[in-house]
Amino acid sequence: MTQLLSPGVWDEVPCPFCGLACDDLRVSTQSSKLEVIANGCPMSCKAFAGLSSSKPTAPRIAEKNVSLKNAAAAAAVILKKAKQPLIAGLGTDVAGMRALMQIADRIGAVVDHMNSVSFMSNVLALQDGGWLTTTLSEVRNRVDLLVIAGTDVVTRFPRFFERYIWNRDALFGSNAREVVYLGRGLDTQAGTAPDGRKPTVIACDITHISEIAGALRCLIAGRHMQIDRVAGVPLSELQQLAKRMQNARYGVLAWSAADFDFKHAELAVQSLCELVKDLNRGTRFSSLPLGGNEGDVTANQVCSWQSGFPLRTGFGSGHPDYDPRHFFAQRMLQQNEADALLWISSFNEKRTPPETAVPTVVLGRSGMSFNREPDVYIPVATPGIDHSGHIYRTDNVVALPLRKLRESALPSVAQVIAEIEKAL
Ligand code: SF4
Repeated sequence: MTQLLSPGVWDEVPCPFCGLACDDLRVSTQSSKLEVIANGCPMSCKAFAGLSSSKPTAPRIAEKNVSLKNAAAAAAVILKKAKQPLIAGLGTDVAGMRALMQIADRIGAVVDHMNSVSFMSNVLALQDGGWLTTTLSEVRNRVDLLVIAGTDVVTRFPRFFERYIWNRDALFGSNAREVVYLGRGLDTQAGTAPDGRKPTVIACDITHISEIAGALRCLIAGRHMQIDRVAGVPLSELQQLAKRMQNARYGVLAWSAADFDFKHAELAVQSLCELVKDLNRGTRFSSLPLGGNEGDVTANQVCSWQSGFPLRTGFGSGHPDYDPRHFFAQRMLQQNEADALLWISSFNEKRTPPETAVPTVVLGRSGMSFNREPDVYIPVATPGIDHSGHIYRTDNVVALPLRKLRESALPSVAQVIAEIEKAL
C-alpha cells in the first residue's frame, strides 16, 4: 500500500506506465520533477521525470488560453453539433472511462482505444474460440517453462523477467525455470537465468507463427509430418519444443499482440490459444496475452461491464452496438464517417490524436505538442500522480489502486467530462 516514507518520498507506488503496473516504486516528489529513486525501469523513470509541475496547465481554444469552463463549453458545442462523434485514445483510469461511457451514451458516440489495432487481435480470438489464460501472480509462483512468441517482452514491459520469472520469492522454486523464444532478431538477453543458463531461441519469421503453432499441435497430437521444415524451422527443433511443452508442469505461452504487426493477427493469436488448449489434455499450460499499456485493458473492462460489449462499440442507435470492423476509429476518420473527435491521453504526452480535419477536442497530459493544434485542448491530470484512481493490469484480474502523489492544478478526465456534460 502506497505510503509516505518521509516528507516528499512515497514508497510502494504503483506505476501506471505499462500493463505490469508494478506496485513497488519509491518516488521522490521533492522538486518540481518527480524522480523514481528505487525499483524503476527506463520507461517509468522517463515517464515520472517528464511529469514536471512547471508545464502549462491552462486549457486552450484555438491556441489561446481560456478557463476550464469556457473550454468545456466549446467542447460541448463541437460534440453536440456532430452527427457521429468519436471518442478515442481512451488513455485514462476507471473513473475517467466510466465518465466517457456516460457521455458516449448521451451523445451517441463510438468508443475506441488508441491501441485497438493490436488489442482487438486478442478480443477477436477470445470471442471466436475462447482461451485459457493465467495471471501474473500464477506466473510468478508456478511457471516452469515460458515460451514467448514474437516479442522480447522487455521493450514494452521492462520489469517482466525481474518480477515474474527470475524472482526469488516463488512458491514453487524458480531456479530451474526455462525460457524459449519463438522469433527472429529479438533481444533475448533478459531471458538468461541468473545462474547463466541461456534461453532457447527458435529463429522464425513471426508472420508464420500460425504455421509453427499448427505444426506443434500436430506433433502434440502424435501425428506424423512428412516434411523436414516448417516456416524455415527444422522439424527436429519443433519436435523437441513439443516434448518440452508436454513435459512442463506449469507452462506459459506469452505474446504481445502489439508485436504482431501483420494482417489478420487475430488468426495468429487464435492458433496460439488452440495450441494451449491442446496442451491441457495432458498437462497444465496457460496463455499470457501481454497488454495494458495506455490503459487499454482498463478501457475494455469498463466498456464491457457497462455496455456488455468490448471496445469499438457505438451508441448512435440508442443502444450499445458492437462492430469491430466499422467502429475502428482510424478507419472511421479516414473514411469521413466521424465528424467530431474527442481524444483522451492522460498517461503519455506523445500519444497525440491522428491527423484529421474533423473538429477535435483533446484531453491530454500537460505538455502535449501537436502538429495541428486541436480546436480545444484541455491538459488533464495523470492518474496515480495527480489524483487517485484505479487501473487494470495486463492480466485483467487486478484493478490496482493508484494514489495521488502531489498537489496539482490539473483536473482529472472524469472532472473535465462532468464539466462538458454540464454544458451539453
Ligand atoms: S515495468 Fe512497467 S509498470 Fe513496471 S516500473 Fe516499468 S513501466 Fe512501470
